[in-house]
Amino acid sequence: SQGKFENQTVIVTGASSGLGKACAIHMAGQGANVVINYHSGKDKAEEVLEEVEKKGGKGIIVKADVSKEDAVLKLYEATLKEYGKLDVLVSNAGMQVDAPFLDMTLDQWQKVIDINLTGQFLCTREAARQFMKQAKGKKSSTAIGKMVMMSSVHDIIPWAGHINYAASKGGILMLMRSIAQELAPHKIRVNAVSPGAIKTAINKDVWEDEEKAKELLKLIPYQRIGVAEDVAKAVAWLASDESDYVNGETIYIDGGMTLYPEFSDNG
Ligand code: NAD
Repeated sequence: SQGKFENQTVIVTGASSGLGKACAIHMAGQGANVVINYHSGKDKAEEVLEEVEKKGGKGIIVKADVSKEDAVLKLYEATLKEYGKLDVLVSNAGMQVDAPFLDMTLDQWQKVIDINLTGQFLCTREAARQFMKQAKGKKSSTAIGKMVMMSSVHDIIPWAGHINYAASKGGILMLMRSIAQELAPHKIRVNAVSPGAIKTAINKDVWEDEEKAKELLKLIPYQRIGVAEDVAKAVAWLASDESDYVNGETIYIDGGMTLYPEFSDNG
């Protein structure tokens, strides 16, 4: 095949389900060698690898907790041992631990910040270090490395009952923009995608419940809940040279959720 990621190595963190899984499969379908990172549930990661191989792609599975520095270093070691170089990082792993602000424990706060924000710091830093090493003495007309960070509409929409999550995603917005500013002169591009409501395990309790799903649609002008492929296609574009002049940007993939839909029939 002649996909746009032919011979490129792509790390996808949290690739055993949901958006990460869709990104890994979509980019493998365009020629990428994918590193399928997972934290728990090896069987699910193996299913992703099977789908990658069905698409004619290649991949490896690497277990690592993105919030742990030594584990992240090992993830990169395993990647380089297998493929010798890195082209793209899709920094996707994330989770929620919900609680009302008044009841939230320090552990609940810390866990989400560690995985969603510190995890992105560790993974992007190692990717950038690797890109710099690879670029030494070489000239390139396009970016020497690309990173796409998984944020959320909650990087700008406040979210009562989920303050740890919203704080982590708000943090990603400025982490991403600041890294982009710092690394742009080295021809490394960093962007983010901010999904709205996409059908995955993270929000199963909402879309599985008819009443809750109906309420959710009121927040989505486009009148459908997103699917993981909606996000994977945008991630692939940001990770490709087609978006070479896009840097430090966030693409909202939300069916208009960030358009203040409650104002739409205000006469
Ligand atoms: P998901 O629960 O299906 O997937 C999350 C993935 O992250 C899983 O593979 C999980 O194993 C992995 N993960 C969790 N903790 C980890 C750790 N410590 N180390 C490595 N991997 C870890 O949910 P999803 O919806 O696919 O979420 C993926 C990302 O998308 C998250 O960052 C989430 O915040 C973001 N997001 C999702 C939605 C949505 O509507 N689904 C909306 C906005 C943002």
